[in-house]
Amino acid sequence: MYKQHLVWHECLIKKADRNCLNGHKSGLIWFTGLSASGKSTLAHGIEKQLFDCCIRTYVLDGDNVRHGLNANLGFSAEDRKENIRRIGEVSRLMVDAGLIVLACFISPYRADRDAVRKLFARDNFFEVYVKCPLEECEKRDPKGQYKKARAGIITNYTGISAPYEEPETPELVIETDKLNVQEAIGEILNFLHEKDLL
Ligand code: ADP
Repeated sequence: MYKQHLVWHECLIKKADRNCLNGHKSGLIWFTGLSASGKSTLAHGIEKQLFDCCIRTYVLDGDNVRHGLNANLGFSAEDRKENIRRIGEVSRLMVDAGLIVLACFISPYRADRDAVRKLFARDNFFEVYVKCPLEECEKRDPKGQYKKARAGIITNYTGISAPYEEPETPELVIETDKLNVQEAIGEILNFLHEKDLL
């Protein structure tokens, strides 16, 4: 069976129907930033607050996805690209299914993030740059990975031995060395209200 013979099957139930059933919109909030900048902490904190308000959510988290869906991928530029491409497609299905998806991935390459952005309508995709100086991230080092990267035990580590390309026009920048966790979560929730996602 060749790709050109595939035919899209129109669904009877559309995203708008699912949004109507759920009583809220769906969309993708994409957290990008250095390891330990706070992406997971903020995404899970936001999810808890939304869940408590009966909003259907799901967090896609870097290391977790690499345990399953992307277990066959490494950290070369090519594998990182494929990692983000698959996550973008999974997010698209989840948003179509009516969820608010919180995706936390270093996603160091601008082109890879922009490719995900292109999968979504403008009011369905929000890039949040979780900004924190490398020195502060290294000080936090919650998983001990920076230490291993400095020692050369982990190679291709973003910020140490692999590049991070800062977003040029993210929808939101959150500086986690200036805001505490609760303040940062509050800012993101306010932003999502302003954008009419919530
Ligand atoms: P990432 O998902 O970006 O790798 P994590 O959320 O796993 O980062 O780790 C961030 C660490 O920084 C946590 O230990 C968290 O408690 C701490 N931290 C300190 N201040 C903040 C803040 N303002 N926002 C988010 N995390 C913070």
